[in-house]
Amino acid sequence: MPILQVAIPVPLFNPLFDYHPPLHASETQLQAGIRVRVPFGTQECVGMIVAIKTHSDYPELKTAYECLDTVPLIPKPLLEMYAWASQYYCYPLGQVIAATLPPKMMAGASTHIELPPDVLWCLTEEGRKHANNTFPAHQQRFAILLDLLKNIPIGYDESTLALALSNPRPTLRALQKRGWIAPLPKQSPSEIHPPLPLNHAQQHVVHTVCAHAQQFYPCLLDGVTGSGKTEVYLQLLQIVLHSGRQALVLVPEINLTPQMVARFQQRLPLALVVLHSQLPDTTRLHAWLAARDGQATVIIGTRSAVWIPLAKPALIIVDEEHDPAYKQQDSFRYSARDVAVWRARQAGIPVILGSATPSLDSLYNTKQQRYHYFHLPERAGNALHPSYRVIDMRQQPRHSPFSPELQKNIQYCLQEKQQVLLFYNRRGYAPTFMCYSCGWIADCPRCDAHLVYHDNVRELRCHHCNYVQNVPIHCPQCQSHSLHPIGQGTEKLAEQLQQLFPHARIARIDSDTTPSYQEMNDLLTKIHAQEIDILLGTQMLAKGHHFPAVTLVGIINADAGLFSIDFRATERMAQLLIQVAGRAGREALPGMVLIQTYHPEHPLLHCLIQQGYGAFAESALTERLNAQLPPYCRLALLRVGAKTLELAIEFLNQAKYTAEQLPDFNSQIRLLGPVPAPMIKRKNRYHAQLLIQSSQRNLLQRFLPQWLSALQQKQRSVSTRWSLDVDPLDL
Ligand code: ADP
Ligand code: ZN
Ligand code: ZN
Repeated sequence: MPILQVAIPVPLFNPLFDYHPPLHASETQLQAGIRVRVPFGTQECVGMIVAIKTHSDYPELKTAYECLDTVPLIPKPLLEMYAWASQYYCYPLGQVIAATLPPKMMAGASTHIELPPDVLWCLTEEGRKHANNTFPAHQQRFAILLDLLKNIPIGYDESTLALALSNPRPTLRALQKRGWIAPLPKQSPSEIHPPLPLNHAQQHVVHTVCAHAQQFYPCLLDGVTGSGKTEVYLQLLQIVLHSGRQALVLVPEINLTPQMVARFQQRLPLALVVLHSQLPDTTRLHAWLAARDGQATVIIGTRSAVWIPLAKPALIIVDEEHDPAYKQQDSFRYSARDVAVWRARQAGIPVILGSATPSLDSLYNTKQQRYHYFHLPERAGNALHPSYRVIDMRQQPRHSPFSPELQKNIQYCLQEKQQVLLFYNRRGYAPTFMCYSCGWIADCPRCDAHLVYHDNVRELRCHHCNYVQNVPIHCPQCQSHSLHPIGQGTEKLAEQLQQLFPHARIARIDSDTTPSYQEMNDLLTKIHAQEIDILLGTQMLAKGHHFPAVTLVGIINADAGLFSIDFRATERMAQLLIQVAGRAGREALPGMVLIQTYHPEHPLLHCLIQQGYGAFAESALTERLNAQLPPYCRLALLRVGAKTLELAIEFLNQAKYTAEQLPDFNSQIRLLGPVPAPMIKRKNRYHAQLLIQSSQRNLLQRFLPQWLSALQQKQRSVSTRWSLDVDPLDL
């Protein structure tokens, strides 16, 4: 009799269990990829069959209750990908599956649902008349949908609308009944936006990728902002469409970039599925099934979309490949960019990593000839490169975060009706809240961090654990009333800016002000209509937006990234600077970038500004080589949080000892630490870490799983929590 090997979503490194098949299962149900309900301990749970065996080492097997599917839910390539990822990232297979399937699937939800017709909704003549109505409170859902639809020439599909309004279908039906919206009739090709004639550099990319369409062909598309990378993607996608196969496009954030989605929709109207984690569960399930069965042709999504099955994959694109958002930073810590490359190899297809500021990892891979290199050095169309100027803040009056030169340039732009973008990477009003009488500072009771003062809600907040408290009226230490916010966040800068330029229309963009897709969409509409003069924000502004009328970019303080202990900080900082700068002057008008710093002679800043990102990356790579840091070695990080720092360190010392006893441990693997984490106390736990380094990836890949199961067997204290991060981004 066959034996089922079942992955169960429990936090054990090797959570595979053997079962006898259910009594009434048909033979076709005994296959990998079928869900089964099984007894587990004293409970029951849903697991995934991952293999059929003829023999088990366990003497007394339980019998599974029932199979939940009649044909495999998960196709074989996806199962293989899960197995690889579980091994590579040292994360339990059952949990990898549970974390990456659409929600509820591993709770046993039925997947027999009617797929929504693949239509785009648009306003009718009648609907357009009502689009600006004011609706009573109970019809606010009408207002939201009409508003979205009136701004888009082609129409939106249900899953995109669901970004703005959860479960839009009943509202769509109601609007359709009134005759205000209608499904868009199938388009003739002329109504779809036509492709642009490509320049030489763009053509070269499209031709070369097409010539290698039938093989694993990883490439880095290094092109400055505005050089036409997206146009290259679109034309490749159109070719994929004609071939009847599928493509996956990964982007760092979707709800911040409705423009990008709209642009894809105008060009690929009938084939596009938008996928990201804020979608309602059923919409995600639809998309997943449609992709698995080959009905969805182009899937555009954030990090988690890399796990979507594809029936006929032809191409994978990872846009802004340098973006840290591709790395999941908790529970299942994977890099969607790296998984995408693995996937392309598995499927034997091209994968394009695109960026204006490629990660050092990918640049290194091109040097090693592992990735092909394409360069788009010039801005497409007529746009010019921005010019840079460094402002030495040591020479400026101290009272204002805006130097006179920056103020003068802002003034000029306002007069000329050009837009200004100001970048400052600290949200809130002030990063510290202090008593002037005794020096008391408001700290988070749960973390090693100051509380950040937020003026509009008059609250003190911890940006690490979301702890919130009201602003005290007098000092808890000396009772004085002399309590003041110190330093600046975007909120305070906006206030100061408004005082300097009373008539300017200022929009602040950070995670405090723009949480939703809808609001971002509204704001972008206003920006494009030039109803905003100055945009002030955090790194959110650097995320792929296109602001044609912005001609001046001001970096309020460039120093934060120059002196961090994290070895990736300078890389991040350089990327951010170039990305923000790339927002300027994208069309007819040339852009200017003013960089305020207290360290104008810093070599990194010099290199970056004088010689560009490429030269910076070269010298940063040399530094990494000398220090034997990634990409010149492989890292993993064992993190632990415990009731005291001593307990955390002790745990790691024991883990180190355990490691040194293992057969696959050798001198090529170095264990560095343990050391206290950069922020020791976080959420009431004390953190420490142990770094694992090796120049050889496969040594680590053999050693880590062994080590993990040894640790798991030894682990006794429930209050100590640990996790392993393979290829960590932050140390
Ligand atoms: P990127 O993705 O590299 O930032 P885009 O593809 O968004 O660049 O292109 C920037 C701008 O240049 C867009 O307005 C786009 O329409 C335009 N553009 C791109 N390729 C061409 C081309 N071959 N000819 C003319 N304009 C182009
Ligand atoms: Zn005090
Ligand atoms: Zn906190």
